[in-house]
Amino acid sequence: SDARLGRITKAETTCNYCAVGCRFELYGKDGDVLGVRPADPEATPANDFSTCVKGKFGYDFVDSDDRLTTPLIREGDEFREASWEEAYDRIYEELSEIQREHGDDSVAVTSSSKCTNEENFLNQKFARQVLHTPHVDNCARLCHSSTVTGLKQTVGFGAMTNRINEDIGETDCYLITGSNTTEGHPVLATRIKQNVRDGADLFVFEPREIGMAEHATQYTRTKPGEDIAWLNGMVRHIIEEDLHDTEFIEERTKHFDDVKEKVEPFTPEKVEELSGVSPEELKNAAETIAKADTCIFGWAMGMTQHAHGTRNVLAITNLALVTGNLGKPGAGLSPFRGQNNVQGGGGDMGPAPHNLPGYQDPTDDEVADKFERVWGERPPQETGLRLPEQYEAMTDGEIRGMFIMGENPVLSEPDIREAEHAIQELDFLAVQDIFLTETAEFADVVLPAASAAEKYGTFTNTERRVQMVRPAVEPPGEAKTDLRILCDLAQRFGYDWDYTSPADVMDEISQLVPIYGGITYDRLESTPEGLQWPCEEEDDPGTPFLYEEEFNFDDGLARFVPADYAGPVEMPDEEFPLMLTSGRVLYHWHTGTMTRRTQVSMDHVPESFVTIHPEMAEQLGVKDDEYVRVTSRRGDIVVKADVHEMSDPGVVFIPMHFAQGAINELTQHELDPDSYIPEYKVTSVRIEPVGPD
Ligand code: SF4
Repeated sequence: SDARLGRITKAETTCNYCAVGCRFELYGKDGDVLGVRPADPEATPANDFSTCVKGKFGYDFVDSDDRLTTPLIREGDEFREASWEEAYDRIYEELSEIQREHGDDSVAVTSSSKCTNEENFLNQKFARQVLHTPHVDNCARLCHSSTVTGLKQTVGFGAMTNRINEDIGETDCYLITGSNTTEGHPVLATRIKQNVRDGADLFVFEPREIGMAEHATQYTRTKPGEDIAWLNGMVRHIIEEDLHDTEFIEERTKHFDDVKEKVEPFTPEKVEELSGVSPEELKNAAETIAKADTCIFGWAMGMTQHAHGTRNVLAITNLALVTGNLGKPGAGLSPFRGQNNVQGGGGDMGPAPHNLPGYQDPTDDEVADKFERVWGERPPQETGLRLPEQYEAMTDGEIRGMFIMGENPVLSEPDIREAEHAIQELDFLAVQDIFLTETAEFADVVLPAASAAEKYGTFTNTERRVQMVRPAVEPPGEAKTDLRILCDLAQRFGYDWDYTSPADVMDEISQLVPIYGGITYDRLESTPEGLQWPCEEEDDPGTPFLYEEEFNFDDGLARFVPADYAGPVEMPDEEFPLMLTSGRVLYHWHTGTMTRRTQVSMDHVPESFVTIHPEMAEQLGVKDDEYVRVTSRRGDIVVKADVHEMSDPGVVFIPMHFAQGAINELTQHELDPDSYIPEYKVTSVRIEPVGPD
């Protein structure tokens, strides 16, 4: 470990929860994480001294008794302990056998945004070079794939354009939508609240009156899934009032007229009818945003997780372009990415069926030549199946073997009964994780992995900042880092991967990924604030905000792309009269594998719940804290009622973190045609009381 003080170890590292990328010192002793303390402010560009409750107290899971400590092999309904050699042999034999019989692309690989950049790079290399399959994907498909697809079409890079501290922290105005920032990205929310106290305007457009609404200049309640209407309406109003930035539009963009024409039908009256946003609120927000010197447009999964998620992103991008809020300090498009390393591991490192590392096209010959020169073998030159398509292919028997690193699809896929069914159809499943997750329960072989507190590597936070991760404790039992496991497995398949450290992997990344071309461990160790990509050469200081000179296209111009109107796929009806939406709570994290094993999280929010408006609760005969059955067209769950006025009476909310009362028993498969993100955010349901507990 980094530095030894007696038996106490200390590591300056990066938080393993959200993508704000807070940094701190992590202390450990004999395998237990003792706690965190603020690190040198130079090394904490996103958070200074702050951390949220998860960063500060969320490390109990590291020494949980539930940690996997040896490989496991299934025997009938049970698992038995096995040696690493036996586990590797089994994976090699089973996957090879499936591929011999059914072809290379009968197996698929899942990577993990929780793991380091280096591990994700090797995961996709394992899929492409070792298994020769194009089917590799990760959970970024399920959270911000529509952000990436939308931003690539309009501005060029699928990433936040600006910095957290200097831009989000110092802008004149915010439009925040589809993000419960105080609970999902708490330290980022603190920055925004401070700046609002200092005079910045904050517009929050949300179906639920979330914490940020309290601090807003204007909180506007929207109908779930109707964001294109009010975003297009704002663009229309700004143009009509001649408040658009003509100089920026003329010099730095193209296709403005297409958007101008497409937003024409979105009059304030039409917007109100579709989205519930009143003409006064629409005009006030649009005019304030257009007149502000700088504005930050922030969003998260409330915008992205729709069957029209990409169009939502196009619509918000058009608003940023029409007001000239790109390429300058204090302004920008700010997708708040979810997991610690979803920007880097889930995106930049290319564990995705249509992207090689660095968002390079696998079907491009020059790109394939470059990878062949370094790997000695060409990666498959085709686009593989996206995660939801893989589950369909599993049901159809086209994908028969799967290797999952650090993901829990049995809770995170939409309509999880279907996902479970698909997983059970597999001939062979190997899962590599820190716990026996709901998904690992279905595996044939389970490999015990190291947590982020137990390894070296890098994470890239939501502002494109590549930061060091360092170990404070040793992995438990025989657990190994994902990086080591992947190298051992590649070895077992006959590939001599001779990386001796994550630094060696980063050397290969910088060789193959132009936006990481100047990033090395030597530089990262001597640059406490990390490096923001694009960082293309050894002496490139990195890029704090994007598009100062040009957008990421050959002609340097941003593209206006019209966002055609679409609303929710399922609308309430007689049988399912309520609209269910989902989200996070401060104390928990994603499918809860870590926070459900963390004391402070379970003390505050021990189980799933459904928030119901008091009027609706009365109508349904439901009392606070009593159990209710929530039923959709896919299934039903029983959860506690939380009677609380946060939304319209017809809208209810369930958090996404629990295995008991899992919201994805209810959600649907409907996919965004551009990004393949599922429509998680709007589901029609009915609720009935089941009586006191
Ligand atoms: Fe960790 Fe995010 Fe909390 Fe920071 S805000 S401590 S990165 S969970």
